[in-house]
Amino acid sequence: MKTRITNIREIVTPVGSRVAVGADMDKLSVLTHSDIILSDGNIESVIPRNQEEQGIKHVIDAEGAVILPAFVDPHTHLVFGGTREDEFNLRIRGKKYMEIARMGGGINSTVRATRSESEDTLFEHAVRNLRDMVAHGTATFEIKSGYGLETETELKQLRVIKRLQESEPVDIKATFLGAHEIPPEYQGRKKDYVNLVCEDMLPAVKEQGIAEYCDIFCETGVFDIDDSRKILNRAKELGFKLRIHADELTPLGGGELAGELGAASADHLVHVTKAGIAKMVQAGVVFVMLPGTTFFLMSDKFAPAGKILEAGGILALSTDFNPGSSYTHSMPMVITIACLRMGLTIEQGINAATLNGAYSLGLQNVTGSIHPGKQADLIFLDAPSYKFLVYNFGVNRIRAVMKKGQLIYQKA
Ligand SMILES: [Zn+2]
Repeated sequence: MKTRITNIREIVTPVGSRVAVGADMDKLSVLTHSDIILSDGNIESVIPRNQEEQGIKHVIDAEGAVILPAFVDPHTHLVFGGTREDEFNLRIRGKKYMEIARMGGGINSTVRATRSESEDTLFEHAVRNLRDMVAHGTATFEIKSGYGLETETELKQLRVIKRLQESEPVDIKATFLGAHEIPPEYQGRKKDYVNLVCEDMLPAVKEQGIAEYCDIFCETGVFDIDDSRKILNRAKELGFKLRIHADELTPLGGGELAGELGAASADHLVHVTKAGIAKMVQAGVVFVMLPGTTFFLMSDKFAPAGKILEAGGILALSTDFNPGSSYTHSMPMVITIACLRMGLTIEQGINAATLNGAYSLGLQNVTGSIHPGKQADLIFLDAPSYKFLVYNFGVNRIRAVMKKGQLIYQKA
């Protein structure tokens, strides 16, 4: 079935269809006086508005909206129990994270809540958050486990992700993050926990076939380089693709490890070294930047996006949506922070939030740009130009979101 989208103010897309690097990163194709032709949920062509097209069954009037590719968010912790607004309020009053953790807050409070909530409750909570993210323009997600830290609850979280994949009209990639933190019952016995992840959790996840990626929080005081190498090598052996929380708080060498192991992405990278950047560029590992987290944690030290782009790195943006360090559903807000605090241009921000996110999830042939043959995953922006996506910060100008040719969100 053929559909024509007409009355579009601007059609805005990354110039290439696979990945944006180097000079392409600062470019967008902007077409006016053009329509988009869809066929069976895919983009068939972009044609001049006055050109006739045969076989159109349905016309969508965009009412002057700006159309962009829907966002791809390649790093979320969307399935969790509870929320941490009280802890947030303590943090902005000056309490340190370690103090909050000693008072029973921090990630362990989310672990307790995720362990105790039923699968159905976790699912309902996750659906609400996912739909809020769709309303802000995201139509493709990566979602991690990592708040169980025991085999049973990690599997419960992954089953919730599977239910989201089956029930929600979006694309979702699942990631096992059993090595997100050392659980309280393993304090002082980190080696035993690493063994549990390698010998119990990873094989169980593999057997159920419910995660494509394995991730780890590689950080000083959590999982060091040796632990990370051990877990990720075991995951690789079992057929998982790899992602790494790397160099967020200290320059531990997670970027280098990601390059060494050929990970799909290394994420955070606030403290990534020059050698880490070089190794990642060489191995084609995507740099997933999470500036919303840096902002939310009230730090002034952002990831070195300029150096990464200069070195030819593939840069993607993500919300890092989670209840502790980045409670936002909004990719546009993340792009604004990336522009204002990491020095990206609007064009670099949009490329990073669409095509390069898709590339990091192996979905560059499916989504992330407006090119023939890709899914019609589009956002309709109520604005005079695409620049308002970033310029008009903290406001949701998205009027509608389309996935595979179907409108999955429309502003009331
Ligand atoms: Zn994360």
